Amino acid sequence: MAEFSLDNILRSNVKKLIPYSSARSEFEGDAQIFLDANENSLGSVLNNNFHRYPDPLQKQLKQKLSTLKNIPAENIFVGNGSDEAIDLLIRAFCNPGVDNILIFPPTYGMYEVAAEINDVAINKILLSKDYQLDVDATKNGIDKNTKIVFVCSPNNPTGNLLDSKSIEWLLKNFNGIVVVDEAYIDFAGTESWITRLKEYPNLVVLQTLSKAWGLAGLRIGFAYASKEIIHVLNKIKPPYNISEATQQMALQGLQNEKEAKEKTCVLIRQKERLLQEFKMFGFIEKIYPSDANFILVKVSDAIGLYKYLLAKNIVVRNRSSQPLCENSLRITVGTPGENDVLLTAFKNYGL
Ligand code: PMP
Repeated sequence: MAEFSLDNILRSNVKKLIPYSSARSEFEGDAQIFLDANENSLGSVLNNNFHRYPDPLQKQLKQKLSTLKNIPAENIFVGNGSDEAIDLLIRAFCNPGVDNILIFPPTYGMYEVAAEINDVAINKILLSKDYQLDVDATKNGIDKNTKIVFVCSPNNPTGNLLDSKSIEWLLKNFNGIVVVDEAYIDFAGTESWITRLKEYPNLVVLQTLSKAWGLAGLRIGFAYASKEIIHVLNKIKPPYNISEATQQMALQGLQNEKEAKEKTCVLIRQKERLLQEFKMFGFIEKIYPSDANFILVKVSDAIGLYKYLLAKNIVVRNRSSQPLCENSLRITVGTPGENDVLLTAFKNYGL
């Protein structure tokens, strides 16, 4: 296959696009009087600085993240959740009605939904029975209009890391964008693919504050990539995609790395406990290994167990409609107390 070239795969309308230039991005110096953005000069009804538009490029946040992740700020894109990055990547590279993406079900549902919203076709190659990439089969999912391959590692809903050799094969042999979605990487104890960005100009790594950092409500996700790809995402994003409130809270959150790590350790210990205890239950036919903060289990009757748990006020996710996930429930690791309740409910199931 030909070498990866950003210029070759970028949509021509995006290439030509003159992005919206906001007041805040045009003037960056020091001034006293800001009459450039039609804000409310009398101030915010909340008595804070929210009467001003936020920094469109979230420089402070990126600076902090740059230090934490040991990666230059120019290689970071901040999105309204990593879901925003998924959508923008499809919009940047896939011509509606012409191009396609490749995904590996069972996997995270938003790749498919974002593609459908953008009228982009979806090629699917199932994971193998042990939920790994089948490199030979992958070749059948790639054609001349395939622009992005989405790889989720650790994968949702199966919970496992994907073999790094297969991801490397894709990065070397596919001349479009390879997105490695690492939403759950902090629970996996392996090195992030962001350490490989210099080697692979077609690599985009997604991470989020929604999982290990406990900030799903804030809606902050990151794409890490070459500065050229980051430039493209910045060009097409809504000008003020991250609110001032969110930027401030995210910055505060990132100061608490120690707490995030402590929470991660507790959740990993609780996961190990659940993996162990689940073995006691005859109705659990298969417990899949997990590198994430959830566990996929195959049970004798997924709908029955789902409804039973719901009656006990416990909600889990029924993934049975996904390929290779027949009768399977995905269970998020809870607090120690929540896990006690779950295990007690399991003990009483069928009594
Ligand atoms: N990727 C994966 C694999 C996920 O499971 C999720 C959320 N469940 C996301 C991305 C989206 O995360 P965010 O909250 O950052 O939009």
